[in-house]
Amino acid sequence: AIKATQVHKAFGSLHVLKGVDLTVMPGTVTVILGPSGSGKSTFLRLINQLETITGGTIEVDGELIGYKYVNKGSGQVLQTLNDKEVAKQREKLGMVFQRFNLFPHMTALENVMEAPVHVQRKPKKEARDLAVAELQRVGLGDRLDYYPAQLSGGQQQRVAIARALAMKPEIMLFDEPTSALDPELVGEVLNVMRSLANDGMTMVCVTHEIGFAREVADQIVFMDGGVVVEKGGPDIIDHPSEPRFKDFLQHVL
Ligand code: ATP
Ligand code: MG
Repeated sequence: AIKATQVHKAFGSLHVLKGVDLTVMPGTVTVILGPSGSGKSTFLRLINQLETITGGTIEVDGELIGYKYVNKGSGQVLQTLNDKEVAKQREKLGMVFQRFNLFPHMTALENVMEAPVHVQRKPKKEARDLAVAELQRVGLGDRLDYYPAQLSGGQQQRVAIARALAMKPEIMLFDEPTSALDPELVGEVLNVMRSLANDGMTMVCVTHEIGFAREVADQIVFMDGGVVVEKGGPDIIDHPSEPRFKDFLQHVL
């Protein structure tokens, strides 16, 4: 589970997140909607500790991320985690970005094997079997030895998903995984995400794919101006109550 409480983030004087509260239960899919600049990516990046939090807390499975309490003198003080501790926490999370960020000089298989071998220090054989299984899971069992340049955008994004899955994360974060794709390639990536959701993966997805949100999400969160303006079940897409959410939906639908 993820529990974000009064999360704030500022970049210098730019106050981007202004008190975001959000709970994501295990095995559920949360879709975050919102206009450009509303802070969606920043929020995901905070969960994955790609940015440091300015205020508030984020817990993953009840564990505070980025910080720990240590005994000092008469009481406890909050201390930032060291790189190794941060890396350990980040192992629980897999993230997929708009751009696929694959290593261009490595095949699909090598891309997926890379972190299990070099980060988790798994034996090559084991990592290979794992990578093959994850590539099969995203429908690319017949593209193991292809280089990114030989794959379509949709296939590259599916390799990126397999690469994240190979680390066996508990939670997957998706930041607009289909918005850089040609329209005809969007469906295959959404299908992979849908099947992950059906397998019970805990997911937080920033996307403008309203159909996917309506069909797959357990929870919809609409952000605007650095706050959660409205949240609820998928039914709020068809029955929004906040004017800003209504307005947003009219523009994307
Ligand atoms: P989009 O739909 O366009 O992806 P978003 O909701 O993901 O938008 P963010 O990327 O989280 O929005 O950005 C929110 C605000 O924070 C924007 O004004 C952006 O310019 C600013 N911002 C994001 N990252 C940084 C950074 N590293 N330094 C300074 N400002 C930043
Ligand atoms: Mg973004």
